[in-house]
Amino acid sequence: MDFSLNDDQLQAQKMVRAFVATEVIPTIGEWDRKQEMNPTTLPRMAALGILGVCVPVRYGGQGFDYVTLGLVCEELERGDTTLRVVMSVHMGLNSLSLLQWGTEDQKQRFLVPQATGEKYGAFALTEPGVGSDVVNMTSTARRVGDKYILNGEKMWISLATKAHHFLVVSKTNPDAGHKGMSAFIVTSDMPGVTAGDIHGKLGVRAGSTGWIAMQDVEVPVENRLGEEGEGFKIAMSALDNGRYTVASGATGLIRACLEDSMKYAKERKTGGKPIAEHQLIKQKIGYMQQWYDAARLLYLRAGWLKNQGIRNTRETSVCKWFATDHSVQAALEAVQIHGAYGFSDEYPVERYLRNSKGAVIYEGTSEIHQLMQADYALGNREDRPLRQELPAYDPEFWQSEPAPAAGD
Ligand SMILES: Cc1cc2nc3c(=O)[nH]c(=O)nc-3n(C[C@H](O)[C@H](O)[C@H](O)COP(=O)(O)OP(=O)(O)OC[C@H]3O[C@@H](n4cnc5c(N)ncnc54)[C@H](O)[C@@H]3O)c2cc1C
Repeated sequence: MDFSLNDDQLQAQKMVRAFVATEVIPTIGEWDRKQEMNPTTLPRMAALGILGVCVPVRYGGQGFDYVTLGLVCEELERGDTTLRVVMSVHMGLNSLSLLQWGTEDQKQRFLVPQATGEKYGAFALTEPGVGSDVVNMTSTARRVGDKYILNGEKMWISLATKAHHFLVVSKTNPDAGHKGMSAFIVTSDMPGVTAGDIHGKLGVRAGSTGWIAMQDVEVPVENRLGEEGEGFKIAMSALDNGRYTVASGATGLIRACLEDSMKYAKERKTGGKPIAEHQLIKQKIGYMQQWYDAARLLYLRAGWLKNQGIRNTRETSVCKWFATDHSVQAALEAVQIHGAYGFSDEYPVERYLRNSKGAVIYEGTSEIHQLMQADYALGNREDRPLRQELPAYDPEFWQSEPAPAAGD
């Protein structure tokens, strides 16, 4: 594995870093206080190509690799978690699932407009009564002729009121456990779909989190992703990609804590010297540096495996668990280093702490990842090949336009 960055990766990293420094960091505190998403966030991310960064050019994207996706998420969350959440649901969970499992027709109808940023995608798995325990979901999809009729409620859905396309998983056979689930692309304009925002959140206040209700929603069979009964598999493969974006983003949050803490510790004095010279403050900085380096290496390893087309469920899980747990730790230390100022919104570290907590809950809680790692170690769990793997990164395919159709 070679972790040196190539010119394409450096260029994407530089572009997103500049966007975050000039357009996100100066105003994000204000949007967080208002508890609203800046209406320019999604259009600007679309205009910069960020919403299609890791999608082949032939499907409307920028044709960058999976490592670049991680680098972009790190930069975005260096500014604010809410921007990385957009990437997790729109790109990691939704667009990459379309790339992995979609038919050519579905890619043209849904992936292309998502990659260009004309439409936004979301992922709807969780329900009011089930999160970790997805197998016991109660929403249903009943086949009637060439349609499915969807009923049920999805809860805690990022971009619920902003997205045009939802990747929804529901039960097609309620008695068949995880084999009775199927995945569908539901559009927000389908009759019977309603959505609303959830207010009063601890963090990601400048982001969009909500619920979706489906009442007798008629979804054409052409909108089913994969085969009937493959919904659980598709959801888990989507999480392999979503978790990668969460992990690389959390690495950016650790970096934010580290950089802001170093700056403050060099300026703030006690006993006539900067607090950065006190051994106990240095210890905190040292730990943050260690967590940042380890989290970064873990996500680069997962990104490298994705580029090779190698299954990476275990490696992605361990990096998501490590990076998110340590972003909470780093944010706690950053607040402590800032003293009373860390307890106020005069400095961003209190927002870092509130934002860090969500990521140890969504896309598999830390407890679920701990259990997964134990099960891999004990030999209770192994990855079996999927019918359709995430495509490896082949620059010739990813960066080329499609061949013109005969007669063009
Ligand atoms: C900000 C935010 C955004 C989100 N965005 C989305 C989204 O876009 N799409 C979506 O589908 N969902 C989303 N979610 C939902 C999220 O994925 C779930 O909250 C998560 O899966 C946990 O489910 P739960 O909240 O129902 O907790 P539960 O599953 O009820 O768990 C409660 C507690 O019990 C523990 N626990 C559960 N089972 C076990 C076990 N077997 N062994 C040990 N401990 C266990 C958990 O670790 C946790 O501590 C989001 C959540 C948040 C907070």
